[in-house]
Order: sequence, then structure tokens, then C-alpha cells
Amino acid sequence: MKKIYMDHNATTPVHPEVLEAMLPYYKEIYGNASSVHAFGREARTAMEEAREKIAEFLGAQPREIIFTSGGTESDNYAIAGSVENAKKGNHVITSLIEHHAVLNTCKHLETHDYKVTYLGVDRYGMVDPGEVRKAITDDTILITIMYANNEIGTIEPLKEIGEIAKEKGVLLHSDAVQAVGKIPVNVDELGLDLMSMSAHKIYGPKGIGVLYMRRGTRAEPLIRGGHHERNRRAGTENVPGMVGFGKAVEIAAADMEEERKRLWGLTEKLKDGLQEQLKYVYANSHPTERLPGTINLSFDFLEGESILLNLDMKGVGISTGSACTSGSLEPSHVLMALALPVATAQGAIRFSLGRANTEADVDYVLEELPPIIRRLRDMSPLYADKVKGIETDYGPEECTDHSHHDNDEEE
Ligand code: PLP
Repeated sequence: MKKIYMDHNATTPVHPEVLEAMLPYYKEIYGNASSVHAFGREARTAMEEAREKIAEFLGAQPREIIFTSGGTESDNYAIAGSVENAKKGNHVITSLIEHHAVLNTCKHLETHDYKVTYLGVDRYGMVDPGEVRKAITDDTILITIMYANNEIGTIEPLKEIGEIAKEKGVLLHSDAVQAVGKIPVNVDELGLDLMSMSAHKIYGPKGIGVLYMRRGTRAEPLIRGGHHERNRRAGTENVPGMVGFGKAVEIAAADMEEERKRLWGLTEKLKDGLQEQLKYVYANSHPTERLPGTINLSFDFLEGESILLNLDMKGVGISTGSACTSGSLEPSHVLMALALPVATAQGAIRFSLGRANTEADVDYVLEELPPIIRRLRDMSPLYADKVKGIETDYGPEECTDHSHHDNDEEE
């Protein structure tokens, strides 16, 4: 059976060149980067080279790059650390569709006398910069808005938000874990003070991330201990991870434009092909402002989980927009924030394509998925009601608007 991985937003395979670059730092150059002897110095040189590569990629200075254990830690550090350091004010602005690393950090702040505004989004997950401006008060100390959403791939208007933050003198953090390496990211152009990234989303190893911290920005360390990372993040340096991250960034930079175009073409083909063959298939991702390899589609009258399991049986790995908690199928917070009708939110699946995916992979899905959808719909009481013309609660009529077109071809 074919094995096709289309879940690159969850994680990516380590690129062979990344692995090759890392191996010597496990086998030969294994010194502690903080040691004074030659073993340590060699490791430190590799670490600083990786830092320089990452800084250059982001238009930053090497000293603004802090290595962490991943995106989650970077988000926690950026948010909790910067608000703790703020001299006055207790208000934070974020959005409803952030990753849980941001949302749960903000929720935690609320238990410590901070106030958090969770901004809503439009039907494609876009934050309105005007709403950010309106939400700012004299007490606002931090705005944290992701650059690209992991579930739907929508890219947020960060540049506009950056201009507002600068004008108002409020710190801006962005979780750019899904954006870095896929679309151009320049910290100055975006007006960012803090930015989170993670290596394993861009063919680097797991367990290594970066927090970009603009020179002059202060944040209380999250992890205390030795004097590593200029006293900002303690713990023996993960040199192989850093080297791998540096290499991953180099590889991403080398062919980003080509890869962007290629992946955009593949996801458009996938969406169009499915919408041509099936009715009631809606795109939840922004039509133009989305990550090139990500497309989130809803198949009305079905549950994303059943589609996922059936595709898994055909060797295709995707993910759903729903989180299955304690036996109940609840649409994810992201899809809930899009205010989709429940039937549409429940039938959402995410394809996230990457380097190894080809046109043939898309053709395979276009061949295998429509029969699965038809079979599942034949068993769906919601669909039976629909075809019999019985009124059911599918939510507001906007549901059809959401599709951009009412694809009426026969199934
Ligand atoms: N933020 C976003 C948008 C993500 O997609 C992820 C990964 O799932 C994270 C943060 C967490 O990153 P990590 O897995 O490196 O902790």
C-alpha cells in the first residue's frame, strides 16, 4: 500500500542533510559548549554559526536569537517573561485561534491578575488590525498574534498589527512556528519584538526552538540556572539541535520561492479536484492569504475523524480540525472561532503538504477520497435528511457563502 504523509504542520521528517550536519556533534564534537577546553570551544563555534545563520534568515542580530526547547517554550517565555518584566499595565491582547502554547499561557496569566482580550477572527481566521487598535488601552503591555495558523494556514496581517503596536508603544510577539521557513519572515519589516519558532516544522530535529528577542526587550527567564544564552535560558546547550536548526533554515532559504509555488499548486489542485467531484466541500483556509502547503477543507454531514481513519486505511496521513475529548467530538477552538455551522466544523480535515509530496500523491487522494466521502455520506443521517429535503439545523445560511461557490456537480 502507498504511504503518503500529508501532515507536515504536525511535524516533518528530518532532512537528510540536516541529520548529516548534526551527527558529528553527537559523535566527535560532543563537548559542552560552555566548557573552556578545545572540545567545548569547537561545540561553541558550531552553536554560534547556527545562531548567525538563523539571525541572518530573519534579518536579526545573532545576539537577538535565544535557543529554547521548541515553539511551546518560546511562546511561554515570550509571554510570561515579558509581562512579568513590564513596569506598568496588566493587559494582554491575543486572538481566539492561537496555538494552545499561547492560549493556555494567557489563561494562566488571567489567574494572576492580568486581563486578556481574545480577539475574534473572520470566517477565514483573519484578525482585523482595526480590532487590535480598538482593544489597546493604557494598560496594554503585550500583543501576541500568530503569523500563520497551524490548522487552517491563514496568514495574519502582522505588518499592519506591527505598525499599530509601534505607534502605541506596545510590545508585539508572534508565534511564527508555522510561518518561518515557508513564507518570508523579516522581524524588522513585521515590527516584531518577540517571535517564536521551532525546528521540527521545517525538517529540523524535534526539541529545539528559538525565541527572537529584539535588542532592548526584556523578559524574565522562564528557566533559571546557569549563565547559558546570555543569562536568558539556562541549561546545557543542545548543540546538535542548534546545528540541525541552522541547516534546516539554510535549506528552507535556498528554494523557498520554488517550494512555495509548487506547494500552492498542489493544494489548489487538491481543493479544486475535490470540489469538482463532490458537493458540499468548503475551504476553511483563507483563499489567498494562506500557507502554501496547508488546506483545510470541510465535508458537510460527516465527521473529520471518520474521514481521517478511512484515509489512514488507504495509507494517507492527514489530521482533523477537531479534537476528540472524552468521547465527544468537539470542533477545535480554531474552527469554532470561524463561526462555521457545527456540521461544517465537524467535517473539517487538514492537509498539510511538504517537500516529499508530488502531483502523483495529490492524484492518489483525488482518486481515493471521493468514494470514501460518498460511502460515509450514504451512512450519514444528516446527509439523508438533506437529500430528502428535511430541514435540519445546519446553522446560518452563511454556510453556502463560505464555499465561495456552490459546486453542484453530481457526486
Ligand atoms: N505554535 C504553533 C502555531 C504550532 O503549530 C506548534 C506546533 O504544534 C507550536 C506552537 C508548538 O511548537 P513545539 O512543538 O516546537 O513545542
